Amino acid sequence: MNTAQLWQAALGELEILLSKPNFSTWFRETFVVSHENSRVIIGVPNAFTKTYLEKKYHILIVRALRNVVPENVKEVIYKVELRENKKQAEDLFSPEQPLAQSLSSSFQSGVPVKKEPDHPAGLNVRYTFDNFIVGKYCELAHAACQAVCDNPGDTYNPLFIYGGVGLGKTHLLQAVGHEIMRKFPGRRVLFVTCEKFSNDYIQAVRSGRAKELKDTYRSVDVLIIDDVQFLSSKEGTQEEFFHTFNALHQTNRQLIISSDRPPKAIPAIEGRLLSRLEWGMIADITTPDLETRIAILDTKCKERGIVLSNEIINYIATMVHNNIRELEGALNRIIAYSQLNNTVLSFDKIKQVLSSITMSYAKKSITPKQIMGIVSEFYNITIEDIVGESRKRELAIPRQIVMYLMREEIKCSFPTIGHEIGGRDHTTAIHAYNKILKDVDQSPKTKQDIDLIRQRIYNI
Ligand code: ADP
Ligand code: MG
Repeated sequence: MNTAQLWQAALGELEILLSKPNFSTWFRETFVVSHENSRVIIGVPNAFTKTYLEKKYHILIVRALRNVVPENVKEVIYKVELRENKKQAEDLFSPEQPLAQSLSSSFQSGVPVKKEPDHPAGLNVRYTFDNFIVGKYCELAHAACQAVCDNPGDTYNPLFIYGGVGLGKTHLLQAVGHEIMRKFPGRRVLFVTCEKFSNDYIQAVRSGRAKELKDTYRSVDVLIIDDVQFLSSKEGTQEEFFHTFNALHQTNRQLIISSDRPPKAIPAIEGRLLSRLEWGMIADITTPDLETRIAILDTKCKERGIVLSNEIINYIATMVHNNIRELEGALNRIIAYSQLNNTVLSFDKIKQVLSSITMSYAKKSITPKQIMGIVSEFYNITIEDIVGESRKRELAIPRQIVMYLMREEIKCSFPTIGHEIGGRDHTTAIHAYNKILKDVDQSPKTKQDIDLIRQRIYNI
């Protein structure tokens, strides 16, 4: 195994353990400089990344490397060094290597080992309807996307799709882009992430090219914006998006939007923009059930040309249940191991290979602080707001939700809950718990918020 292969296998593990933005931010430009005498030197692009990896991810990195070559990693150090010789990585991804095909998809989340040529509409060729598996959990969203492809601009405008991470929103939105381009070759389709839209806007204002930006975005027939929850608190971008939305909508051009939550749950979003997001069709994607997860794994194995027994597929689908990105990650890992070792893995070996993933589920004990962090982020407030005294509704409800989740998810006692939430009495915790318990039954909005927060808790 050369150093590039070693690092790619370790990155495959790290990718599963970290969130997509974290993985991409901290590992994009990394590589193994050398691996000699059980010492691995990892090249990083700058001193900041070096410190960050040393402080935050060292243990995970060492563990990931040891999982690949157990006897041969005693020391791991980081060194600021740019990857001058890109050949190392490209070797691994050269077309002759079968490993390349199976691993390349596991690195789409930002490790630019081999850059695909830019698609004119900002689309990724991998995300089409052909390879999107439909189950109950995403039936409505899928049907709505197909309806939009039949009559862009006419049927549902805007189409708003929401759901937790790794559940296929980006894939679906991109599939719509490809399909409309195929069916209506003259139409101009543009896919952007909300972050890119926001960055473009800020750049354009800074450099006095705001009109050009307007012209670009307002001249398309189909505008697809991914992850609009990032509009939260960005006033200037919201304003620009609002006008773009109006210009396109008024002339029957199609808007397709995704978010990790429904429009109403996006914090700090202007009323007039919120109402527009709710004008058309809103469809959610939930978590796939076991049968769907099995179907997804079956299909992905066929796509990759690998054969796994039903027992193994069932095992993976049962153990990996948060989202589809993680399912893919588990599969990538199995493929990487069997190819690196050039063997077909036995069931026991597979259990071992996946053990760090399955153990991370089992061990994932969630703390009250994490629940507070996730709820406060969800409602765009601070932890101080949660533990504080204010009785304002927009703070009191998230506070009660934290108490409810501490009871439901981590079985805290009521006195502990009261203590954690700013030293309150246990009767306050009981009251909060009962109130939200009732709300979940009676208010669809509360239920929806809590479902989405739960998804985030289990995606840490
Ligand atoms: P999201 O945008 O919701 O975070 P993605 O669209 O990025 O999720 O999906 C994560 C990964 O899972 C992608 O590689 C995608 O191709 C795959 N995936 C998600 N849903 C499906 C599905 N229904 N069928 C096949 N692959 C899927
Ligand atoms: Mg996405």
